[in-house]
Amino acid sequence: MNPDVDPEGPRIPAAADCHDGRERMHAAATAAGKGDTLARYAADYPKGPHDQPQSMCPAFGSLRVGLRMRRTMTILSGSACCVYGLTFTSHFYGARRSVGYVPFNSETLVTGKLFEDIREAVYAQADPTQYDAIVVINLCVPTASGVPLQLLPREIDGVRIVGIDVPGFGVPTHAEAKDVLAGAMLRYARGEAEAGPVAAPRTGVSDRATVTLLGEMFPADPVGIGMMLEPMGLAAGPVVPTREWRELYAALDGAVVAAIHPFYTASVREFEAAGRPVVGSAPVGLDGTAAWLEAIGRAANVSADRIDAAKQRVLPAIQGALARTPIRGRITLSGYEGSELLVARLLIESGADVRYVGSACPKTPWSEPDREWLAARGVHVQFRASLEQDLAAMREFSPQLVIGTTPVVQKAKEARTPALYFTNLISARPLMGPGGAGSLAQVVNAALGNQARFDAMSDFFGETGRGDRAGVWESTPRLRPEFRAETRRQLDKAAKKRKAEEML
Ligand code: SF4
Repeated sequence: MNPDVDPEGPRIPAAADCHDGRERMHAAATAAGKGDTLARYAADYPKGPHDQPQSMCPAFGSLRVGLRMRRTMTILSGSACCVYGLTFTSHFYGARRSVGYVPFNSETLVTGKLFEDIREAVYAQADPTQYDAIVVINLCVPTASGVPLQLLPREIDGVRIVGIDVPGFGVPTHAEAKDVLAGAMLRYARGEAEAGPVAAPRTGVSDRATVTLLGEMFPADPVGIGMMLEPMGLAAGPVVPTREWRELYAALDGAVVAAIHPFYTASVREFEAAGRPVVGSAPVGLDGTAAWLEAIGRAANVSADRIDAAKQRVLPAIQGALARTPIRGRITLSGYEGSELLVARLLIESGADVRYVGSACPKTPWSEPDREWLAARGVHVQFRASLEQDLAAMREFSPQLVIGTTPVVQKAKEARTPALYFTNLISARPLMGPGGAGSLAQVVNAALGNQARFDAMSDFFGETGRGDRAGVWESTPRLRPEFRAETRRQLDKAAKKRKAEEML
């Protein structure tokens, strides 16, 4: 018997949610046998300076990775409210396929029947004509209760079964949750490749050595990267997270891995176990592209001549694009995609005055070249940035444009400052090479030019809809400050009473 497992069973109610005590959930999960998993997450995804950035349910990252893969089914095991939110979000982002769900109640959770139900669901779905893999994701409550997905069969009729725990109290961001699943799949695929021959990619095997690209990016970027690599005799390999199981083998087979997004710690562990060198940063802007080509070329044992040839081919075009589309303005930037430092580099090389970069992701060795470059230019880089830090930067630097997450953008607009939502408007654009330079400038300059519109709108609406006037009213809002004053008076009175009682 596992000494870490509480013999009396899980002690988490079926209706526990993100706001229940994290420590309690963590302790319950540890007692239920998930201690090793949580310890690995704590090492892979270090927290601090505060507990967890404010962002969506982390499990969405894993769910999205599974839903974007061909011939892959994803099944969630969690509270109905969590599953409702996650499926809603996945369809909002165009999943266009079903998300599996194994419901539970207190009884099935406590008696262990939930695991049997999950096993039954997996067997029922494991149809090799439809699926290469089935992903099962334990959300907070089943993780805290120790639902043992590791006991699921590894494979049923050739369909691979990948079970992962993605609790909000163990995985800080949805970005890192992408890594949890990508890492688990790479680990599985590495075992398969080590055991014998595996399927070739659908597009065939490249006749040149390839560079695996780690991190989701705009579809045109891998094409542009391929063109940049060509003079070095290299080709762009698969993008991880992959869109199909068999691409995992090709990804592991790359000569070099480019950690374009720097938070894929578990995936990097698998690449390193496969003997692949990993290079940080990305080909953004002039300095970034030159340094990246140099680093990739060296890691792939390319001669200095060929590295120079690659640089000569692309750098003048990038220089031209940066010069043709300058950005003038003071900008603060924050997001939770992991590409924030790359975007900041590109903005600065375009001429922008960037003062602050906040990222929900942690500091890793693969973001270090970008952090150093930004720090040398006086930019404050905040890893694991909180909403409060992003807003404080906005107040301190009085930017002419704020690029940020939804609540940051909302605050900026309230303060009549033009703002752009990072996830939808910045990270969903090409960033690499000459194409990236021009494309980013277009959207940023258009936003910077919007100040007059913000002023006009703000003057027009005045105080309408602010503070106590917010919401939908059928008549002119009647403010009742006396109610608030009365509540405050009662709270003060109660606090004084409590204090007096404590002193007795
Ligand atoms: S699974 Fe996500 S939504 Fe549900 S309690 Fe955990 S963090 Fe919150």
